[in-house]
Amino acid sequence: MSYKRILLKLSGEALMGDQNYGIDSKRLEQYALEIQRVKEQGVEIAIVIGGGNIYRGVQAEASGIDRVQGDYMGMLATVINAMAIQSALEKHGMYTRLMSGIKMEAVCEPFIRRRAVRHLEKGRIVIFGAGIGNPYFTTDSTASLRAIEVEADVVLKGTRVDGVYSADPEKDPSAVRFEKLSFDEVIQNGYSIMDMTAFTLCQENNVPIIVFDMNKPGNLERLVTGEEQVGTLIS
Ligand code: UDP
Repeated sequence: MSYKRILLKLSGEALMGDQNYGIDSKRLEQYALEIQRVKEQGVEIAIVIGGGNIYRGVQAEASGIDRVQGDYMGMLATVINAMAIQSALEKHGMYTRLMSGIKMEAVCEPFIRRRAVRHLEKGRIVIFGAGIGNPYFTTDSTASLRAIEVEADVVLKGTRVDGVYSADPEKDPSAVRFEKLSFDEVIQNGYSIMDMTAFTLCQENNVPIIVFDMNKPGNLERLVTGEEQVGTLIS
């Protein structure tokens, strides 16, 4: 096994599937099964899910809502997605805990680092909702920060593309996919992987990032078992 403890970052938009808003139940089910395959390999799993399918802080300003207020709305959106994932995982018999960056006793535990680590050690899948609980951050920064805090071996950024390319592969047919990049190469070439806050947190704390296609069946398992090179590794 390549990794013992992973932090899986999923964007809220990924949960939309073919819809243009909200949560697609087929996609949710597919993700639950992918996660189950990895869980069965004995890997400890933490998950951060975005909220972009429901609400985004930057949207707020455009619609006349205060930015900070909008960011909190975005954080609450991530809790909705986290609850949906939790439910899908539990339906398949996995043990989970939802921990929130904003206190919400009725639906989730508050984030307490030691407790999160304990859950992981006991084999529970820990989902981190409500971001880090502060405005002006993103769920990518949440993924980096929580990965460092729980000492995850890697941040796995699940996307719709199978890695980092030299150019946009949808526009430029000569674009090539990288198997590996250093943090410096990503910055020098301006490849967009995560926002800078999230990216430098990983860089400074030596947490590798893998960008991979979460929608390709079996990809997550292949990546974690190391049986095949999947996505782009940034280290
Ligand atoms: N957000 C925030 N602080 C955090 C995490 C998220 O303010 O620690 C807000 C922010 O407004 C963001 C929204 O929640 O736009 C939804 O998260 P994000 O856009 O990162 O979700 P994704 O793009 O991954 O779906």
